[in-house]
Amino acid sequence: MTTLTHIAVGAVIAKAALSGSHAHLDPMTVYAVSILFSNLPDLTTPIIYIRYRLAKSHHLYSLFHKPLFWVSIYVFLQIFLPKNLWEIISPYVLIAGISLTIHFLMDSFGPFNGVVWLAPIIKKEISFVRLFPAPLSSREWLVTYSKTLLHKTEYLIVGSSLVYLIFKH
Ligand SMILES: [Zn+2]
Repeated sequence: MTTLTHIAVGAVIAKAALSGSHAHLDPMTVYAVSILFSNLPDLTTPIIYIRYRLAKSHHLYSLFHKPLFWVSIYVFLQIFLPKNLWEIISPYVLIAGISLTIHFLMDSFGPFNGVVWLAPIIKKEISFVRLFPAPLSSREWLVTYSKTLLHKTEYLIVGSSLVYLIFKH
């Protein structure tokens, strides 16, 4: 999915968290954490596209786009972070984890790549939809993408996210 959709969903996650059991948290920090972690897996995408062109999937080459990397970070924090510090950051870790999980679930519906859910153990991209061949140019990417159902779904997600953000109290 595209960055705009990940930003919109990140904002929805933040608003939902602040409307629920995380109402006591600092709103700016919650929005920052949620939107940041909703997009962090794609952080190295431009670098990988410049280096390998579109023929290579950034999902395969980016460490940030591997769910087990984030699981290992979580386990590391659980083990090594002092308990009092963990208690302070754990609500934000939960929001970050939800944001990351939703990013990977959404990307599992991408038209060109799945998500390497089990990398580095199994490096197969898992997708919930039929994949198109990798585009060779940005133009080919755009033309093929605009014909997919995902294209329209992203409009729907961004539109409904805006409605939620504006009208949800
Ligand atoms: Zn992604």
